[in-house]
Amino acid sequence: MLTAALVAAVGVAGAQPSLKEEALALLNLEMPELAEVKALHSEGRVEEAAEALLAYYKARTHITTPDIPDPAAVRIAPNEQKWADEALEHTFFVHYGYQPSFNYGEDIDWRYWPVKDNELRWQLHRHKWFTPMGKAYRTSGDEKYAIEWTKQYVDWIRKNPLVKIDKEEYEISNESTIKADAENARFAWRPLEVSHRLEDQTLQFQLFICSPAFTAEFLCEFLVNYHRHAEHILENYSAKGNHLLFQAQRMLYAGTFFPEFRRAEVWRQSGVEVLNREVAVQVFDDGGHFELCPHYHLATINIFYEALQVATLNGFKEAFPKEYIDALERMIVFYANICFPDYENPCFSDAKVATKGEVIKNYRSWLDVFGDNEFIRYMASDGQQGALPDYKSQGYLTAGFFVFRSGWGNDAVQMVVKAGPKGEWHCQPDNGTFELWYNGHRLMSDSGSYIYAGDAEVMKWRNWFRQTAVHNTLSLNGENLQTTESKTLLWQPEGDVQVLVTENPSYEGLTHRRTVFFVEEKWFVIVDEAVGDAEGIVNLNYQLPVGEVSVAKEAMRCATLNDFESNLTLQCFAPKGAYTTEAEGWFSDKYKSKVERKRVSFDVAKKSTDKAVRYITVIVPHKEAQNGPKIDAKFIGKGYSPNGVGVQVKVDGKSRKLKVEF
Ligand code: MG
Repeated sequence: MLTAALVAAVGVAGAQPSLKEEALALLNLEMPELAEVKALHSEGRVEEAAEALLAYYKARTHITTPDIPDPAAVRIAPNEQKWADEALEHTFFVHYGYQPSFNYGEDIDWRYWPVKDNELRWQLHRHKWFTPMGKAYRTSGDEKYAIEWTKQYVDWIRKNPLVKIDKEEYEISNESTIKADAENARFAWRPLEVSHRLEDQTLQFQLFICSPAFTAEFLCEFLVNYHRHAEHILENYSAKGNHLLFQAQRMLYAGTFFPEFRRAEVWRQSGVEVLNREVAVQVFDDGGHFELCPHYHLATINIFYEALQVATLNGFKEAFPKEYIDALERMIVFYANICFPDYENPCFSDAKVATKGEVIKNYRSWLDVFGDNEFIRYMASDGQQGALPDYKSQGYLTAGFFVFRSGWGNDAVQMVVKAGPKGEWHCQPDNGTFELWYNGHRLMSDSGSYIYAGDAEVMKWRNWFRQTAVHNTLSLNGENLQTTESKTLLWQPEGDVQVLVTENPSYEGLTHRRTVFFVEEKWFVIVDEAVGDAEGIVNLNYQLPVGEVSVAKEAMRCATLNDFESNLTLQCFAPKGAYTTEAEGWFSDKYKSKVERKRVSFDVAKKSTDKAVRYITVIVPHKEAQNGPKIDAKFIGKGYSPNGVGVQVKVDGKSRKLKVEF
């Protein structure tokens, strides 16, 4: 039997008058705007006080949100209309990765979990179809959307109590309902999901407030529920990472949007404090975000930016000092640099690809604050205004992102190398990996991430996409890197031969040093040296482009056969005894979506007495599918040196010596 102290079951208030009392008690009735509510309340006329409160909110116009500046002028996209209509039948749009959407039953089963992917269960509680229902309501004027939304909103409250129960009690408890509620609360009340609702419900509030279905009684349900949300986050902020940022930004949102709550200022302040603190923790001095994932980098920019916008619109811009705004600007410039000419980001770590249209919208919005930055203006206008920076290649040494580029146009050659410190949760063990773009196409790309977390089947795929061997880097026995802490030994981003030398202490007894030469701004030579007394099979892994690719195993030569003018030839010069292995390869740029492709590794057995295993890979982008260049390459000098490296490379008869010392 559980004690009341251990179970903080936050149910729904009993009789209706007490719900209204409860809601009114949460508000600061001393505010001049609520004078009438206060007067009625003090006379014990609770029903009328609630009606007065509703009238106040229906007329309220002085609080502004950036998402919906004018609810009456809102528009709806075709997919939002579809989600709104399907939601009337309880078919809920939860996740792009699970389409068509599942139906949750006539009597909604909020615990239905058809595929045991945690995201599917968590994201149900983000109610992504609610705001589309609000838009459908506003654009059509059809009350059915408002009536259904209020029903679903209350149904969710009834069926998803916030049950907190400690682990020990949970294990010994025989109370199956409470156990099930507690289990469910882990999904329904995960602070990230709560924060989503906290922000989105301000939109829904604006869209539906004019409906007759938005009654005083519903308003009180809404306010009590909303208050519970904000207090829950306040007590359960995530320890770090993007979740914490999302939560803080939305607390700021909650405190700003509902200043009538007694606790509003506490919420708002907590958001401001967390964001100001975390901008210094999570954003490196070069503008990189510490999860080392382009997708979360972009999301983080938008979190910081939205908080700043809400503060600006509502008169407390000074809450965010210059350091905050400068860090945000560095993050944007970082992102612009690592993306390809089509605005798409590399798929490193847990990144998905954001489309050009989506990203340009972001740049346009950022101009409100960074209108003086010519590069941001250039990106926002698709090159019609503003100016490009006065550099081409650019390195971010703290975050470990290095961009080689021949130019900024579609026809450029661009390589983005990832070789940084140990990243946070969304980062993968991939130090030294890269993506390559040439003449309008991304030729070599990261495998992506495909899926996050869940049951064994889900985890099998998550682990497949995370593994070191499905990156363009070196591994030992196909195992994941034990240490991910790259050091930059040399970065030379200008001239006829540009160079990066980066080193990662990948395994116990095996350090991987990778030297990348960008020659004549046209082609690349990658020198990989695996040094130490480790024994095993060393693998130099390459993920080949999606599409037709020829692999000559003996010659260790791979060439794309694209019928568009973007191809490459990759040829490896490996140590004696090395052989080519072909293995399962995949590419994913969206959640739960993947395309098969080829993967090769150039493998060689290393004994503990072999000081180093050394490879040279030459990658030449070219337009035609056939007739790739004749390539030859060899090392200069006698074996591995800790202070430099030199190679002689011949491409189509033209020989070049490439040498660096560091
Ligand atoms: Mg990856």
